[in-house]
Amino acid sequence: MTSGTVRRYRNYIGGEWVEPASGEYRPDIDPADSRTVLGEFPRSTAEDVDRAVEAAAAAFPAWSSLSGPQRAAILHKAANILEARAREIGEALTREEGKTIGEGVGEVLRGVAILRYFAGEPLRPLGEVYSATNPETFLYTERVPLGVVGIITPWNFPVAIPLWKLAPCLAFGNTAVFKPAELTPLTAHLITEVFVEAGLPPGVLNLVHGPGSVVGEAIARHPKVVAVSFTGSNAVGRHLYQIASERGARVQLELGGKNPVIVAEDADLDFAIELTTSGAFRSTGQKCTATSRVIVLEPLLHEFTTRLVERARSLKVGPGIDPTVYMGPLVSEEQRQRVLGYIEIGEKEGARVLTGGHELAEGDLRYGFFVAPTVFTDVEPGMRIAQEEIFGPVVGIIRARSLDEAIEIANGVPYGLSASIVTRDIRRAFAFARRIQAGVVHINSETAGAEPHVPFGGMKASSSWSREQGRAALEFFTQVKTIYFDL
Ligand code: NAD
Repeated sequence: MTSGTVRRYRNYIGGEWVEPASGEYRPDIDPADSRTVLGEFPRSTAEDVDRAVEAAAAAFPAWSSLSGPQRAAILHKAANILEARAREIGEALTREEGKTIGEGVGEVLRGVAILRYFAGEPLRPLGEVYSATNPETFLYTERVPLGVVGIITPWNFPVAIPLWKLAPCLAFGNTAVFKPAELTPLTAHLITEVFVEAGLPPGVLNLVHGPGSVVGEAIARHPKVVAVSFTGSNAVGRHLYQIASERGARVQLELGGKNPVIVAEDADLDFAIELTTSGAFRSTGQKCTATSRVIVLEPLLHEFTTRLVERARSLKVGPGIDPTVYMGPLVSEEQRQRVLGYIEIGEKEGARVLTGGHELAEGDLRYGFFVAPTVFTDVEPGMRIAQEEIFGPVVGIIRARSLDEAIEIANGVPYGLSASIVTRDIRRAFAFARRIQAGVVHINSETAGAEPHVPFGGMKASSSWSREQGRAALEFFTQVKTIYFDL
């Protein structure tokens, strides 16, 4: 499968590109055409993790002693380099993960904004001054870095998610061991290259490729890793939480979603259809914030359903590198089988597929992992397809008789990441915003979206209470030191 022309990539540890201790590699496949191997990436082991953690620990004293403006200068440089390479890295992202080229380049530019925002953070206040009981005491707090942080990320936003963790992690003076998803190692390599080019000192950022159950696990268990920031599935997140928090490490989890859109009686239908289509099928539905349930008030149900089906049928599906394509493939064959499995479960449960429901394999599409945009109707709130995260281009329409019932259905799942309502009625909008159990609430905008300067995260099973991005990142990536200074 791997010919002599396929490039072999390496880990980045202690300022050097190094082979994995195992000497083993794994091919990185284009999900739109599985005949194409994009590169071979290390299958690292706990030995590589140990070297990376030691390198990060050795780099910590010097890096954490730099001033905020000095660290900020490197992040600004990284932002400029990433911006200059946006097209190239966006294309690599599209080829590796499958999202469309517009989404790929868009994600890289979002990465630029993330770096610029966090380059500003260490320039803002990092402590407070208090009045001590003793008038001779100068009493103040300072936010200081934690040490070596493990960064473990999923494949679905392989540029934005690592950067929204790495940027604050490094900006506040921590050093990092970065373990990207096995399905998107190329983008992780390119991000690391950007930091290296920007002049990040050796050991500050270490990249270790490999399987989660080996490399991720070793990071979470390593006694010198004082904090772990994780985004991914609930099963893995909960497991990591247990092993890392048990030994006293700080852990942050961003997990799954089952995000609803409520279409109220007064909704503008054209707008509701576009918002649902984009929320459900952009990024092939492989977003933690994807719209996977649309709860429609009865008077609009028939027309909404007919028009959503028409719109889903009209979407062009194909390799994301073609700029006219709306929706690319699933990231892997395994992910495609998982989605097809859920479609089968939905049919068995009594829901009806109105469009899609099958893989797409005509012509060259047979080489990729494509599934047609799928709309289910007659979905009952308790069905598995209405409760569990599918992570694919599948949306279920659920009927509601009142707004109260719609909100109850929306809240009736274990998750609480993102939620939206389409309405022009301020009372309905307000009732929804107040009562919905979601960390991110949208009124007349799709369930997706995470701006770098604003807190992002979920309620209930969607996160571990903490938030990412914005000022919330300061909470996770620093700790408070209280200083009594007797003059
Ligand atoms: P995943 O949980 O399979 O993997 C995430 C990361 O954890 C990968 O790097 C993986 O290699 C690693 N990992 C796997 N097993 C491990 C173990 N035993 N110990 C340590 N690390 C391990 O998730 P995925 O399939 O890559 O991503 C999809 C999931 O991510 C979905 O559930 C999605 O909702 C979630 N997600 C959440 C957010 C959010 O911000 N809430 C954003 C994007 C994706």
